[in-house]
Amino acid sequence: MSSTVNKLIKNLGDDIVINGDNMDRATSYWDSRPATAIALARPKTTAQVSEILRICHENNQPVVTQAGMTNCVGSANAQPEEVILSLERINKIENIDTTGSTATVGAGVILQTLQEACIEKSMLFPLDLGARGSCTVGGNVATNAGGINVLRYGMARNLVLGMEVVLADGTILSSMNQMLKNNAAYDLKQLFIGSEGTLGVITRLVVKLSPKSSTVNCALVGLNTFENVIALLQKSQRELTGSLSAFEVMWGDHFRAVTKAHNSDTGHRAPMAREYNYYILLQTEGGDESYDTDRFMRLLEDCFEQDMIVDAVIPKSETERIALWDIREDFEAVLEPKPLFLYDISLPIVDMDKYITEVKSALKTKWHKVEFYVLGHIADGNLHFFIRPNDSTLSDKVAHLDSDKIVYSHLKNYNGSVSAEHGIGMEKRDWLSYSRTEAELSLMKTLKRTLDPKAILNRGRVLGNL
Ligand SMILES: Cc1cc2nc3c(=O)[nH]c(=O)nc-3n(C[C@H](O)[C@H](O)[C@H](O)COP(=O)(O)OP(=O)(O)OC[C@H]3O[C@@H](n4cnc5c(N)ncnc54)[C@H](O)[C@@H]3O)c2cc1C
Repeated sequence: MSSTVNKLIKNLGDDIVINGDNMDRATSYWDSRPATAIALARPKTTAQVSEILRICHENNQPVVTQAGMTNCVGSANAQPEEVILSLERINKIENIDTTGSTATVGAGVILQTLQEACIEKSMLFPLDLGARGSCTVGGNVATNAGGINVLRYGMARNLVLGMEVVLADGTILSSMNQMLKNNAAYDLKQLFIGSEGTLGVITRLVVKLSPKSSTVNCALVGLNTFENVIALLQKSQRELTGSLSAFEVMWGDHFRAVTKAHNSDTGHRAPMAREYNYYILLQTEGGDESYDTDRFMRLLEDCFEQDMIVDAVIPKSETERIALWDIREDFEAVLEPKPLFLYDISLPIVDMDKYITEVKSALKTKWHKVEFYVLGHIADGNLHFFIRPNDSTLSDKVAHLDSDKIVYSHLKNYNGSVSAEHGIGMEKRDWLSYSRTEAELSLMKTLKRTLDPKAILNRGRVLGNL
């Protein structure tokens, strides 16, 4: 056992720190193979996180911070020489303040647990994503997560008021601010939001809540041209002002892959014909049932009259509404066989269709059996792709690199971003310079060296080895 692990166990106890040989942990949400690391630390308090980092810093011991491990870029996967620092036990909802519309939480609280606790108090924590049952609020903030309600409520960054964070040397920076307005010099928490655990370990948060809406209207619509997708987005933003909360698009191939074909046992039941080019899941939330429903229905009727949409399904119950969302959120059906490469890019909405056509054509030229599935939070300019080359002549690594080259080289022409919301982690480090200038990267490295001079926190992730 290494002397650092001995010291960690001596100072914190074997309930908090377990030797790596005795831990039983999967590599990540996506990879069930056992993780390897020299130790697993599961602190219960900020003070314990501070003590762990103090010892690791003193001993040049690299540490990887883990939460729900649902990230899609390999950023929380442990390396054999690392100590895993898991936030899973700092998971208390300390307070829900319905007057100030805030919640004070431990960073390891599961997102869905917070959402449900807020709903019980007629409040809403509006951050929402498919991984809600596994990801944590701290992980969401560390990755500046987006999800399905960004259009109305913004990303995680927009929802954080206060933060307690432990720096690489164990220093505790506590600013559990509850106010909406606080311009007392630099807003330091912003540095840690979206930094993917490379600058500090977030232990507690104050997040902003909204009142829970009393009415929800939802529809799945089918369309045949991208011009009409944009027209529907603009019309919805104009005519459903203030209530439009989600506008999620699935390209036809993706919809067909996740819904059940005739005579097939797999996939979700298709609630409408599977032949359209685009499917949009549209949702509004409001406080006046008849007004909200009238507005929503009027919009759909107009769209039919103007031939903007060709089909629509309106759920008649909460169960039916959830079934529609399952089609959008459950992509199990496209995950096998491997290799399959996942992308999360953003670019101006006006360029999207052209970009996708270009990527699709380049992929087809390279691999004639390629599968290419596209969906996304289109109102945020954010698209997700799944690419399966179906080429057994190449190693996974070579195929991944070829696929990356196609996706990112075309994206560069549109000044898009290689990561809209999933972050950089290990997987996108080599492409970061496509979306950030030399000057930006240089300042990022200066910040990293200043806050973590020995590079013990999530070493090698995001900016690579400095
Ligand atoms: C089905 C599914 C759907 C998804 N949908 C979306 C989506 O719509 N939008 C979106 O943005 N993402 C999405 N994701 C990705 C993922 O859920 C998010 O990145 C999420 O925010 C990660 O949270 P986590 O708790 O799992 O963090 P982890 O994966 O454990 O960690 C993520 C990164 O943050 C760091 N980290 C975690 N906690 C802390 C902390 N307390 N302090 C400092 N650093 C920390 C880790 O070291 C790592 O670098 C999805 C994932 C899945 C599996």
